[in-house]
Amino acid sequence: MNILVLNCGSSSVKFQIIATDVDAIEHNADRRLASGIIERIGGEAVLTFRVDGKVSRQTAPVRDHRQAVEQILRWACSGESGIAEVQSVADIHAIGHRVVHGGECFTHSTLITDEVIRGIEACIDLAPLHNPANLKGIRAGAEVFGPGFPQVAVFDTAFHQTLNEVAYLYALPYQLYRRHRLRRYGFHGTSFRYVAYRYRQLTGKSREETNIVALHLGNGCSACAIRAGASVDTSMGYTPLEGLMMGTRAGDIDPSIVDFLEMKEGFTAREIEALLNKQSGLLGVSGLTNDMRDLLDEIHEHDDRRAKLAVAMFCYRARKYIGAYLAAMGGADAVVFTGGIGENAAEVRTRICEGLEWFGLELDPAQNQALVNRREGVISREGSRLAAYVIPTDEELLIARDTARCVAGVPNPY
Ligand code: ADP
Repeated sequence: MNILVLNCGSSSVKFQIIATDVDAIEHNADRRLASGIIERIGGEAVLTFRVDGKVSRQTAPVRDHRQAVEQILRWACSGESGIAEVQSVADIHAIGHRVVHGGECFTHSTLITDEVIRGIEACIDLAPLHNPANLKGIRAGAEVFGPGFPQVAVFDTAFHQTLNEVAYLYALPYQLYRRHRLRRYGFHGTSFRYVAYRYRQLTGKSREETNIVALHLGNGCSACAIRAGASVDTSMGYTPLEGLMMGTRAGDIDPSIVDFLEMKEGFTAREIEALLNKQSGLLGVSGLTNDMRDLLDEIHEHDDRRAKLAVAMFCYRARKYIGAYLAAMGGADAVVFTGGIGENAAEVRTRICEGLEWFGLELDPAQNQALVNRREGVISREGSRLAAYVIPTDEELLIARDTARCVAGVPNPY
């Protein structure tokens, strides 16, 4: 079946069309037919479509998410797109939606019903920017394809619902958890689940034998302790702000800093949240950019002190989390890198792994340099007690597979 995978933001819709079904999943024979993004919804939008590496770009007025979905279909079904498998709307068989927050309601991907929509609405307080945009996408799907068309929600938080309360509770008065479900949820769940699955395929291990610390290092960054194939701890918390240093997010800070900034700088709570989310991290420390590639260039070309400091802090923090999770899990078999930085920045991987020799991690420098640009495999030396892998993530593929399985009524095995 051909699955339309949608990742809806407030003013953008990213999509892929992936051909898969239960049989294709078994044989790793899924096919990516097309991908693209519609940006600046609400005005003159920019539409970017990709098939077989060929990119086409156009602008058109796109009022809302419904029109965005219609634009995607119009293009996909036109001869111009060149997708042989999609000639008409009837050639799209289901939609898979990335949904950011499933709260404590959703532990697995699920077919969308009215009750599921109410559940996603109930999580809006937890993700006030993201869940409403995801719901717009779901409504657009129902409007364009008609009621009853199979749509599936795949939650970023679901994989972490296996966390034990010892790991997910904050040491706050317990009634705050009771009253507001204030706790660690974690994000990047679809990415971590995919990476754990690929690790099993690469190593031939069973789910029970899958004990890894995974690092998703992109613009957003988080770490996940995966024991016996399940998430047992993760660094993002109630929101994606907690944990590792990121492109523009501060990650862990002393919460008293909020009060201090209010007093000394006269910032409002909202301004401080914006500062912590949008002006901190690599951008805040370097004063230059949130982009790791540009920072590394800056270091190599100009030996910029603050760029060096930002990258050093980024790597140090990531290493600390690996150490913490190895202790929390009672050891692991591998550290797995994914996300734009984790997949491409060999230099950053080296620096994160420096000091992990004590845990038995010995990097293979040549392998580490070689595995970039979506190349997958091991980057530690043979015999290294703690291995290291690069596994390019593919959240869209997992969303498409979950969608195919939910539609077929087959349980998700991971
Ligand atoms: P997002 O979290 O938005 O999906 P990505 O996973 O694409 O982001 O990661 C973006 C980050 O990956 C940016 O900091 C970018 O500089 C970094 N990155 C991508 N390619 C490279 C590279 N070759 N070397 C270093 N960093 C890279």
